[in-house]
Amino acid sequence: MNIILLGAPGAGKGTQATRIAQKYGVIHISTGDMFRSNIKEGTEIGKLAKSYIDAGKLVPDAVTCDIVKDRLSKADVIGGYLLDGFPRSLFQAEELGKFADIDLCLNLEVDTALIMDRICGRRVCSCGETYHVSTLKGETTCAKCGNELYRRDDDNPETVKARLDTYNVMTAPLIAYYAAQNKLATVVCGNKTPDEVFEAVCAVLDK
Ligand code: ADP
Ligand code: ZN
Repeated sequence: MNIILLGAPGAGKGTQATRIAQKYGVIHISTGDMFRSNIKEGTEIGKLAKSYIDAGKLVPDAVTCDIVKDRLSKADVIGGYLLDGFPRSLFQAEELGKFADIDLCLNLEVDTALIMDRICGRRVCSCGETYHVSTLKGETTCAKCGNELYRRDDDNPETVKARLDTYNVMTAPLIAYYAAQNKLATVVCGNKTPDEVFEAVCAVLDK
């Protein structure tokens, strides 16, 4: 099964993606993670991406489509994959349609009023776990692997505002795009816990 995970920043895409990949044995492909590791390694793509990411804007389509196309040409995706954070524009969706067969677009619907607090209080680990400061009680390391937690550079109020604007203008139209192809399933997250959301996600995927 080849799945797209759609949702505003802070909707919980990363958290759900990790669980989906584990349970259904699909490969988790996150364009955000790929850009961040390029930035860390100081590659040309990383240097280019950083200015856009810090501004809450989309990294140019050509670069983004190339890295996804390249990733999907690897043999390990044959058993299915989960795209987290791609496509994020109608152009990217059209491009994706040329080199991939998508079965389902899973849309995580979140109340935008919750997003600011969720993201600005988010702490992440290099292993992929995410936490919220309100539940950390002062701990600074990951309960799962022991590594030091950190705050993403783009998880600050100003950049979050820009990311939300970018989502509303560029990405939200994809909901109607995949609905028109009869590939859309929406899970309403409301203020559900990650476990509750995952239950709803599984109900969709098990169908
Ligand atoms: P979030 O969904 O919380 O915003 P991501 O890790 O998915 O976090 O994305 C972080 C940033 O990486 C985005 O704000 C954007 O700048 C860049 N990015 C990720 N995926 C794409 C994409 N498909 N197209 C363009 N830019 C992207
Ligand atoms: Zn960890």
